[in-house]
Amino acid sequence: MIQVSVPVAPAGATDAPWRHRHLLDVDSLDRAQATQCLDLATQMRSLRERGDRLNLLSGQIVGLAFAEPSTRTRVSFEIAASSLGADVVELPIQASSVTKGESLTDTIRTLERTGIGTIVMRHPRSGAPYHAARTAGARIVNAGDGTHAHPTQALLDALTLRDALDDLDGMTVAIVGDIGHSRVARSNLHLLTTMGARVRLAGPPAWVNAFRNWANVSVHHRLEDALQGADAVMALRVQLERNAGGGVPTLREYTRSWGLTEERMSLAHPGAPILHPGPTNEGVELTAALAACSRSLIGRQVTNGVAVRMAVLALLAP
Ligand code: ASP
Repeated sequence: MIQVSVPVAPAGATDAPWRHRHLLDVDSLDRAQATQCLDLATQMRSLRERGDRLNLLSGQIVGLAFAEPSTRTRVSFEIAASSLGADVVELPIQASSVTKGESLTDTIRTLERTGIGTIVMRHPRSGAPYHAARTAGARIVNAGDGTHAHPTQALLDALTLRDALDDLDGMTVAIVGDIGHSRVARSNLHLLTTMGARVRLAGPPAWVNAFRNWANVSVHHRLEDALQGADAVMALRVQLERNAGGGVPTLREYTRSWGLTEERMSLAHPGAPILHPGPTNEGVELTAALAACSRSLIGRQVTNGVAVRMAVLALLAP
C-alpha cells in the first residue's frame, strides 16, 4: 500500500472547504464543493486505474447499513472504503434489534460503541439518515432514503455527464420516467441545476407535475418535447416497489409513451449520451439495443460510482 496525501482542495479550486460532517443530500453542496468532489473523484479514478491503494482511512471502520436491496451502491461503497484502507463491516440493520422494537437511533448508538466511524445507510423511509445524523457520533452517508435523496448517485451521474459533455453549465439534460418516486431524480435536480444545467422532466402528469416550480426545470407531458435537442438523456426505472398502481395503467403502456427507442433518441442532440442509474426493467425504460449502444454510459456510471464514493469518504474523513 502506498502513502498518498490526497489533495482535498485540488489545484485550481477556489477556497471551498468541505466542512460537511455528513452527506445526506447534495442540496448542502454549493457548486464549488460539488466541483471539488468531482475533481477528487477524477483523481481517485486515475489512482485506481494505476492500481494504487491509499491508506487515508486506515484504522477506521466503515459500516454498511442497507435496509433495502442494493447491488451497485453497496458494492461500490465497499470497494471504495477498502481501497482507502478502511475496515468494512456489514451492519445487519434489517435483521437487527430494529425489528424487535429498538429505535433506529438506539441501534446506531449501540453500533457506534464498536468503534464504527462512518455509517453508509440505505433505508426505505425518507428521512431516516437525517434522523440518524442528528443523534449519531458517527458520520452518516445517505446511500438512498425512500423516495427522497440519493446524493452519491447524483454525484456519479454529474461526473459521468461532465466527462461526456466537458461542462454541465448551460447543458440541457432530459430526465424521463418515474420522477415522482425517484430519489435519484430529486438529487439530480438539485445537483444538475447547481452545476448550471437546465433539466427537462418527462413523464405521466402524476409523476412530474409536482416539480413545475423548480428553478431551471421544465415539465413535459410528451416525451418528444423533452428530447428535442437535449444534450443528454437519463432514463429512470419505474419504481414498481413504491408505485402501487399510480401513474400508468401498465408497464406496456408506459413503454409505449415513455420508453426510449433509437427513433425517439434521434430527436436529441446528435450523439447525446444516455444514462440510467440501474437496475433497468429490461425493455421498459429503454430498448436493450440502446442500453448496449456506444452512446450508453450505463457501465461508465457504475465505474464512476466507486471513484465518487472514494472521494466522498475521503472528504468526510476526520
Ligand atoms: N439504484 C437507484 C436507487 O437505489 C435507482 C433505482 O433503484 O431505480 O434509487
